Amino acid sequence: MLPVKSIVIAGGGTAGWMTAAALARVFGPSLNITLVESDEIGTIGVGEATIPAIARFNSMLRLDEDAFLRETQGTFKLGIEFRGWRERGHSYMHSFGAVGRDLAYLPFHHYWYQDRMQGGDAGELGDYDLNQAAAYAGRFARSDDLVHAFHFDAGLYAAFLRRYAEAGGVTRIEGRIADVAVEEDIRALRLADGRAIAGDFFIDCTGFRALLIEGALKTGYEDWRHWLPCDRALAVPSARTCPLLPYTRATAQTAGWTWRIPLQHRTGNGHVYCSDHISDEEAHAALMVQLDSEALADARPIRFTTGRRKKLWNKNCLAIGLSAGFIEPLESTSIHLIQSAIERFIMLFPRGPDHDRLAQDFNDSSIHEMENIRDFIILHYHVNGRYDETFWNSCRNMTIPDSLHHRIELFRDTAALHIPPADIFRLPSWLQVLHGQGVEPQAVHPFTERVARDDRARFLRGLRFECHERLELLPAHDAFVWRHCYHR
Ligand SMILES: Cc1cc2nc3c(=O)[nH]c(=O)nc-3n(C[C@H](O)[C@H](O)[C@H](O)COP(=O)(O)OP(=O)(O)OC[C@H]3O[C@@H](n4cnc5c(N)ncnc54)[C@H](O)[C@@H]3O)c2cc1C
Repeated sequence: MLPVKSIVIAGGGTAGWMTAAALARVFGPSLNITLVESDEIGTIGVGEATIPAIARFNSMLRLDEDAFLRETQGTFKLGIEFRGWRERGHSYMHSFGAVGRDLAYLPFHHYWYQDRMQGGDAGELGDYDLNQAAAYAGRFARSDDLVHAFHFDAGLYAAFLRRYAEAGGVTRIEGRIADVAVEEDIRALRLADGRAIAGDFFIDCTGFRALLIEGALKTGYEDWRHWLPCDRALAVPSARTCPLLPYTRATAQTAGWTWRIPLQHRTGNGHVYCSDHISDEEAHAALMVQLDSEALADARPIRFTTGRRKKLWNKNCLAIGLSAGFIEPLESTSIHLIQSAIERFIMLFPRGPDHDRLAQDFNDSSIHEMENIRDFIILHYHVNGRYDETFWNSCRNMTIPDSLHHRIELFRDTAALHIPPADIFRLPSWLQVLHGQGVEPQAVHPFTERVARDDRARFLRGLRFECHERLELLPAHDAFVWRHCYHR
């Protein structure tokens, strides 16, 4: 028997239903899982782009990928195109795939930079990146050569997981949580109609409201707005466009950025901005003017404060999703943070009433993960060449976290990218964004000198040729979606 026999999940957005589905799958009937949600309150309804790690979550649930995409009107995502981030008119892609191939223990990019420094014809980073080439060519296939994530409709995803979780034994209770009964720890959720929902352990998935972790337990919040000052968003769907691009687009604006996410039935669009530098009306106009198809609804406003809860696991309560904190969706990491919190919780599942050490370990790992993602996002803002705009000037001039400062300077001095194993963004991600934003190393690893110049040139040429050849074999993304996972 499990020491914790009943879990109550407060909230049924993406976080609530992902948690319910995963716990039901792993623990089966040995755990009593109840989820309380309120249709009247609803969900945030955004969160349409993901990173490749989501495949691990889907496979834990034994989901059929085609069925999942069909149900959620999804498409494949090979990376994110960043337009105008380094400077106006410039663009680059952060793709999910490998860039080049390592040679003799040394990462590829040292050879590539050395060739450029010596005036060789190494070409662009993207010439060595099949994911990027396929994204721009609008091609896709499931293949060991490509690394993919998904775009999907967040509402349909939650509904899909709800069906899955309920079939797995999760009890759903419709009702508004009016109060939380706390003694030493949380005892029950009190609903507006008078019902009390008791449990051994509570998971707060109530979104930005954070009713349990903050409202009841007053855990505290670490505010990151001094590094990530955007605090508002507008989201608007527009008609689907053809062909369906297999990548997200993030376009820098005067005081923030806009997203574009292609789905089967519509395009998701939004504007994330800093209210100190632009009015809501201006932000709205900037979003609407760049839609490439007819708007299907009014733009929906959302307010947020970037940061994290001081503890994610406090007493017998764990915050998952927006209740745990928020990092803006520039690299599509929120759903990933939900997933990794669930995976970590399953590994550190409470063994008895005294779970302080487990909670400590959970909090330390989660905070490390969030700070690592935070640094990566700050990089996009901080290293910019948009010199004539006050928002971008203030991002360039801000003091950044020491951890990020160290990584940028180490790369600039030596081209070294030393990424700890637990970090979600690996070397190719940091390389693409550092290079894309315009950080150039002054030197490369001395070992590169041991490869003769002609051999190096041949190595680089071979990789470019291989990438080109493989691209030719890939079908169109549209055709792939149509054939395998089209929602009819
Ligand atoms: C502008 C924006 C864009 C985003 N884009 C992305 C993206 O591209 N990729 C990505 O990974 N993530 C993205 N996210 C984050 C993503 O939307 C969330 O991580 C995800 O939807 C999880 O939300 P949630 O379930 O925590 O909260 P919500 O969706 O807000 O769900 C909260 C739940 O709690 C319930 N609830 C609240 N109060 C009560 C109450 N009193 N009684 C009963 N029930 C209650 C609600 O009814 C709801 O069911 C984005 C977020 C924003 C703000």
